[in-house]
Amino acid sequence: MKDNPLNATDPLVDAFGRVHTDLRISVTDRCNIRCRYCVPAEGIQYRSHAEMLTYEELERFVRVAAGLGIRKIRLTGGEPLVRKGICRLVKMLAAEPGIVDVAMTTNGILLDQYADALKAAGLMRLNISLDTLDREKFQQITRHDELDRVLDGIAAARRAGFEQTKLNALAIRNLSEDDVVPLARFARERRMELRFIEFMPVDGDRKWTSDRVLSGKEILELLSQGIGPLEPASSNGSPAAATRFHYVDGGGCVGVVRSVSEPFCGKCNRLRLTADGNVRNCLFSPQQWKIRPLLRSGATDQELADLIRAAVGAKSHARGTDNGQFARCDRPMHQIGG
Ligand code: SAM
Repeated sequence: MKDNPLNATDPLVDAFGRVHTDLRISVTDRCNIRCRYCVPAEGIQYRSHAEMLTYEELERFVRVAAGLGIRKIRLTGGEPLVRKGICRLVKMLAAEPGIVDVAMTTNGILLDQYADALKAAGLMRLNISLDTLDREKFQQITRHDELDRVLDGIAAARRAGFEQTKLNALAIRNLSEDDVVPLARFARERRMELRFIEFMPVDGDRKWTSDRVLSGKEILELLSQGIGPLEPASSNGSPAAATRFHYVDGGGCVGVVRSVSEPFCGKCNRLRLTADGNVRNCLFSPQQWKIRPLLRSGATDQELADLIRAAVGAKSHARGTDNGQFARCDRPMHQIGG
């Protein structure tokens, strides 16, 4: 088996028995908005073009990872749609043997332009980030007046046939409370699944404090009061980050990603690749394994596979998420990939 990593039969299992099947690839650290909870106010150091992995390098990495049992890919960033020719990458990855799902997390601003081409390229699922329906607040959060384009992007995704499109809303105390019910109504009217994400300490400005976390429990209370009762829904057997609930009136599903109040490290099956070619085993861990020098110096597939296995093997059970003492990440979210 050592000689042929692409036919590996032993899956990517870490020391705690977690089998890794999901890979999140950040394709760029750049974004067309600058959300206050993600990108620092100033002093952003973007990676140069030469530091980013090329599409061919990403394809090779995915081929090796698929040989080790990676099955699902999520493209993220930064904003994945600002990377030139992104549909070409989608097509390349969707065609990789072993890869059964290629998804993308996007702010939606460019979807009006790209949704049809992404569908044609083989993208299977979209998650679109939308924190508020209030134009002024959107501008305050993102430092850009782009709410209308996001809404157009959501409509374009649905027209293009992305039926399972989910909405992601980040929830921050004293900021998001008034948005919870309007966002839920918006999603219900469109039969879209909305997931509220707890604020995590990966913000660019390093202003995260635990009292700014609007917890999943509080969000569910706001939903029950503002819309109606909820009951737990099945997770469909997937280790997905969101805990899902049904509206009792049949109005669909809503999810909460309780990364802070109820971390799901025990079920984590994710590996990450940063845009500049570092493998990470956890959003909260500063440890990283440099794949770019290997890719650019004629390394064998076996050497790449060994690096991936090393990253999985070194994964901690939890990084402070088990005792509430979150390890603050060394890089903001836009540089790791959300
Ligand atoms: N640009 C794309 C987008 O907006 O969806 C993809 C990248 S963005 C970093 C991915 C997700 O990370 C977004 O849904 C965003 O809300 C979330 N995010 C960013 N900073 C966060 C933080 N400090 N805590 C929790 N989620 C965060």
